[in-house]
Amino acid sequence: MEETVSKNFIEQIIDKDIAEGHCKKVVTRFPPEPNGYLHIGHAKSILLNYGLAKEYGGDFHFRFDDTNPTKEKEEYVHSIKEDVEWLGADYKDHIYFASNYFDKMYECAEFLIKKGKAYVCDLTPEQIREYRGTLTEPGKNSPYRDRTPEENLQLFRDMKDGKFPDGSKVLRAKIDMTSGNMNMRDPILYRIARMEHHNTGNKWCIYPMYDFAHPLEDAFEGVTHSICTLEFEDHRPLYDWVVHECEFENPPKQIEFAKLYLTNVVTGKRYIKKLVEDGIVDGWDDPRLVSLSALRRRGYTPEAIKKFMELVGVAKSHSSVDIAMLEYCIRDDLKLKRPRMAAILDPIKLVITNYPEGQTEYVDVPNNQENEEMGVRQVPFSGEVYIEREDFKIEKPKKYRRLYVGNEVRLMNAYFVTCTGYDVDDDGNVTTVYATYDPASRGGNSPDGRKVRGTIHWVSAETAKQAEVRLYENIVDEEKGVYNEDGSINVNPNSLTVISNAYVEPALEEYKPGDSFQFMRTGYFCLDTKDSTKDHMVFNRIVSLKSSYKPN
Ligand code: ATP
Ligand code: MG
Repeated sequence: MEETVSKNFIEQIIDKDIAEGHCKKVVTRFPPEPNGYLHIGHAKSILLNYGLAKEYGGDFHFRFDDTNPTKEKEEYVHSIKEDVEWLGADYKDHIYFASNYFDKMYECAEFLIKKGKAYVCDLTPEQIREYRGTLTEPGKNSPYRDRTPEENLQLFRDMKDGKFPDGSKVLRAKIDMTSGNMNMRDPILYRIARMEHHNTGNKWCIYPMYDFAHPLEDAFEGVTHSICTLEFEDHRPLYDWVVHECEFENPPKQIEFAKLYLTNVVTGKRYIKKLVEDGIVDGWDDPRLVSLSALRRRGYTPEAIKKFMELVGVAKSHSSVDIAMLEYCIRDDLKLKRPRMAAILDPIKLVITNYPEGQTEYVDVPNNQENEEMGVRQVPFSGEVYIEREDFKIEKPKKYRRLYVGNEVRLMNAYFVTCTGYDVDDDGNVTTVYATYDPASRGGNSPDGRKVRGTIHWVSAETAKQAEVRLYENIVDEEKGVYNEDGSINVNPNSLTVISNAYVEPALEEYKPGDSFQFMRTGYFCLDTKDSTKDHMVFNRIVSLKSSYKPN
């Protein structure tokens, strides 16, 4: 039986538009402002728009919404591109810059002026605010509202030609100062601002406002469905007014959906900037953040992010999603794909007293017990190995099945060993554990049917590589509050733990930055792309093995 997947509300709108003949080819877009790094919320928008274009055999446009010269930087253009490509949203040659449309936008403004739908207004910003009215009171008309189209055209051209100081005049749409929707009370379309633009330099001293520019950009490109987040719902009538009054033949349609919010996660540009500037995190790609560059550095895959977005779905009302769901997705993605390696994060030495001195042998270890296709590797074993400190106890706790004097356990894939003793330092810390092994249990198999109840992992001391391991927790704890009383961010003191003396098996040297693995019993890890070198390997913990989240 074929599985039926119910369509989300956006797909239902598109289906209807196609059925009614309003839309021949679906065109969607992702229009970031190049004023910061993209985060997991943007990934939702990218994957949604790209996914719809693909599903309907249409086009996906990638457009930099760079009409506001104050905040924009080339650096962001580069990082945003990298992120969109990483997510696999293939925009082919459909990459656009809104600033390339300044001429066409200007023409649209003149068109509206000639139609009597826009006018130049000399009110000061304070007066404009005052005339606008409030949510409960209607606004009143500007005294400049009834200028003739001829006069407006001349004034607007003079604005463009730099004849007036910044802020002294604006171009406004002539709509309705009594409208119940504040956005419709003669909104500003153009302002005078002498600012250099990263693309057009000093060509313009007037710049279009977002609410005018955005619908035009969509219309110029033939976008059919302009999908944005809920806060633009109140702007939709203006969006429709602009594309209608500019008389586009097949005007785009704006559709709003709910933003993605994660619990215990900071996504706001302002907050992240503060964390970066205060030196609390190591840049925008610090693995504790949820910018896409940070998630990539942490070891997240595009597949996991896609899976997550599928689970979250598309909704019309706001809700928060637990980050545990994202963690579930990365575990699920890596589980069968990545090799399982040995790493000891808190090492103590285990000396096997009856093992031939100086000998090293190789034991077979499956690369992934759940995926035989990944084959087997040869791992060196010798008479001295590192094990996790917590795998040995002087006093045996209840139900403890690992090493204590007199107990026999399995060294995974190697041998049965029986603990015979231990050394402690002056502070009572265990420094070395001693054991004997049973040569007949090679491969970790019982020679005579006797059973051991514990299995622990190890790395051979002689060939092990010392490495740095970084463990992460949420950077803020929402239950304790994101902010302190003085306005600073309430950073979780355990958000980063650095382990500098971990030991890992030598095969890990063959991998390159960005590669990921399961470290047996401790989690999924990835070689850091910024700080890891052959001589000093640095591993980021992507996620632990255990989960509090279960999908339905
Ligand atoms: P700003 O606060 O500077 O406006 P922004 O996060 O809205 O930042 P944009 O570059 O304007 O950034 O966003 C590009 C696109 O990403 C927009 O279509 C926006 O609606 C969408 N988007 C932004 N944040 C989220 C989010 N949390 N969930 C889903 N989509 C988002
Ligand atoms: Mg925005």
